[in-house]
Amino acid sequence: MSFKELGLDSHILTAIQEAGYTEPTPIQAAAIPVVIQGGDVIGIAQTGTGKTAAFTLPILTRLAANPIPQGQRRHTRVLVLAPTRELVAQIEENVLAYAKHLPLKIAKVYGGVGEKPQKDALRAGSDIVIACPGRLLDLMGQRCADFSKLEYLVLDEADRMLDMGFLPDIRRVINQLPKKRQTLMFSATLSKEIESLTHEFQHSPKIVQIGKRSNPAETVTQLVYEVQKHLKLSLLMHLLKDDSMQMVLVFSRTKHGADKIARKLEQSGVRCATLHANRSQNQRLRALDDFKTGTVRVLVATDIAARGIDVDGISHVVNFDFPHIVEDYVHRIGRTGRAQAIGDAISFVSPDEAADLRKLEKFINRGLVRKRAEGFDYNAASPVVSDERPERREQQRQFQQRRPQGQGGQQRHGQGGGGGRSGGHGGQGGGRSGGHGGQQGGGRGQQQGERRSAPSANAAPRGQQGQAPKRDGQQPSTARKLWNRLTGK
Ligand code: AMP
Repeated sequence: MSFKELGLDSHILTAIQEAGYTEPTPIQAAAIPVVIQGGDVIGIAQTGTGKTAAFTLPILTRLAANPIPQGQRRHTRVLVLAPTRELVAQIEENVLAYAKHLPLKIAKVYGGVGEKPQKDALRAGSDIVIACPGRLLDLMGQRCADFSKLEYLVLDEADRMLDMGFLPDIRRVINQLPKKRQTLMFSATLSKEIESLTHEFQHSPKIVQIGKRSNPAETVTQLVYEVQKHLKLSLLMHLLKDDSMQMVLVFSRTKHGADKIARKLEQSGVRCATLHANRSQNQRLRALDDFKTGTVRVLVATDIAARGIDVDGISHVVNFDFPHIVEDYVHRIGRTGRAQAIGDAISFVSPDEAADLRKLEKFINRGLVRKRAEGFDYNAASPVVSDERPERREQQRQFQQRRPQGQGGQQRHGQGGGGGRSGGHGGQGGGRSGGHGGQQGGGRGQQQGERRSAPSANAAPRGQQGQAPKRDGQQPSTARKLWNRLTGK
């Protein structure tokens, strides 16, 4: 099926041709005709499937077919609600591209930046408003927005908006919109909560669900490099000598750590940008833009800042610090392996992080492949032993030894001893051989798995990111939900 057969407006056909799209994605082929016919839609699709165009293209077609009569004041006809600033910015970018040959005004509304330009844009009357619920409510409270003639409402990533606690805000916004409108809702999953939302806000919606998209847990090769903490930076620089690491998202647990990594990389000639809570919204958008356009090769981010960003073509995610929380790992690897891309998720695991790795492996019910970087000096400089506790030293000694041990118990770690891959990782075994040298033989058996010595670094720095520390308590269910979403279960 071609875009033309879907009944899109000719200006839009030109724009998508210029964007290089040759044929609709499955969600577009399924949703566009329904929306053009005027029906409500629940689209079950994740980011990376082309869902933004799935709702934007037919809405633009309808707007173009029914322009505001000449002489009538411009008013907002479309409202798109999305959970994060980054997503709002991305949607706006897409809408601008698709609407480039139409005389439409588009405004975006989100917190963290000055209100004035957003108020002006709303007051001037934008045809399409793309907004995060919180800031939009503020501005609606100040009577800046006129939605009295709104025709289309889109709730994008509805499940995430619910996860993030936006339901009361969404309700308050929607209660101020005309009842007669077309409402489209997109969500990665069709949960009970989403169903009740559709009953509340939609009229006989048609469910449009595409087959499972490629599953990041399959397309992303997850590798572990066991390395002493003080060697992580040199290991990163070593790996970056490989040209296949073209677009690399590096995760640091702290803002300070992110800055340090970026500084060192810049000093060694690797162009990079940072994304964390101490950066202003404009700096963050600039960093994302530089990363997307290839001006910088590496983006160093903290978990919270990177939540929700969707950048095509990320070749590698590097967990410079291994996350304490399974949920963070799942979010991180979800940044790569999007659409058809194959991505590598690389984790640097130092002895004090071994317990967190085990926790993850237990959660995903398989061991991750251990890898050694060829030509890298794992014994460079004598380790700075920052922790003189005997158990820590013992832990480091065992870690360095990496004795091959038998497999055992419910978890299967690493390869059999002695080098060479043995596969056997329940789906992960295929791994990638290129790039960074051979596999390390460090099979780790149950005995090691049961070691209690690794001090959970849980004490460390969540607070530094301004994050509520209680998340550990919620972890299993949220992480499981995310993992199931990623694996399409
Ligand atoms: P989305 O799921 O809306 O975030 O889209 C993911 C990526 O796919 C974006 O970079 C879009 O520009 C791109 N895209 C959307 N539709 C198509 C299409 N029909 N052909 C090629 N790329 C597309």
